Amino acid sequence: MRDELYQQTILEHNRNPRNFRKLEGATHVAEGYNPLCGDHLWVYVKVNPVGTIEDAAFEGSGCAISKASASMMTASLKGKSIAEAKVLFEEFHKLVIGELKPDEHSNHLGKLTVFSGIWQYPARVKCASLSWHTMHGALEKAKTVSTE
Ligand code: ZN
Repeated sequence: MRDELYQQTILEHNRNPRNFRKLEGATHVAEGYNPLCGDHLWVYVKVNPVGTIEDAAFEGSGCAISKASASMMTASLKGKSIAEAKVLFEEFHKLVIGELKPDEHSNHLGKLTVFSGIWQYPARVKCASLSWHTMHGALEKAKTVSTE
């Protein structure tokens, strides 16, 4: 059941990615590269003066998993504080490496738990986490993030 939901979600977001555009007025930008798969993304975040993420977007090219993950991430970041975004980053990281079990551990991941089975495919973990590492790098003012 969960595998089917995963497949459908990846396909749907790959076909129709949310926030797939350059974000004018972004306050934080970083470039992310996953040499194992060739995924190459830019992540844009616009933080307002009180520290809330007003908008997030991405562009670039990559496999279906990396695009779907970036699509879902940008959608989930809007309205969050930077601190909340960093919590989500930590939780998503633990999810994709199999340390966080959404049924057992409380978390804020919501729909993002669709990636909970991906730890079984180590080569795909980097595809799913690329946009998140890039977003985290952008908030930390890194210009380029590589998964290696
Ligand atoms: Zn990939």
